Amino acid sequence: MKITKGAVVTGGTSLEYKTGDWRDQKPVLNQSWCKACGVCEEDCPDGAIHVEDGAFSIDYDFCKGCGICARECPTEAIQMIPEEK
Ligand code: SF4
Ligand code: SF4
Repeated sequence: MKITKGAVVTGGTSLEYKTGDWRDQKPVLNQSWCKACGVCEEDCPDGAIHVEDGAFSIDYDFCKGCGICARECPTEAIQMIPEEK
């Protein structure tokens, strides 16, 4: 089989590849400022924000630290801080 550079050989494998160590900034959620609007969950390109028991949480195994959630949160409940390696 000839494989083109950059080609996706098999689909549906993203859960096998934890991408959290790509991060140089980390989003931190202040639950007391969160209004549970769901914007961050909808906008996260990595599907790394989840609702659990009515509270939003960030899955750091897959968050790449892009900062979209912090930028889009209407209450500034998410802050980006430097990642400690
Ligand atoms: S966007 Fe902000 S207020 Fe809305 S659910 Fe996310 S953290 Fe909470
Ligand atoms: S920083 Fe980016 S990847 Fe991480 S939770 Fe926020 S939107 Fe998702």
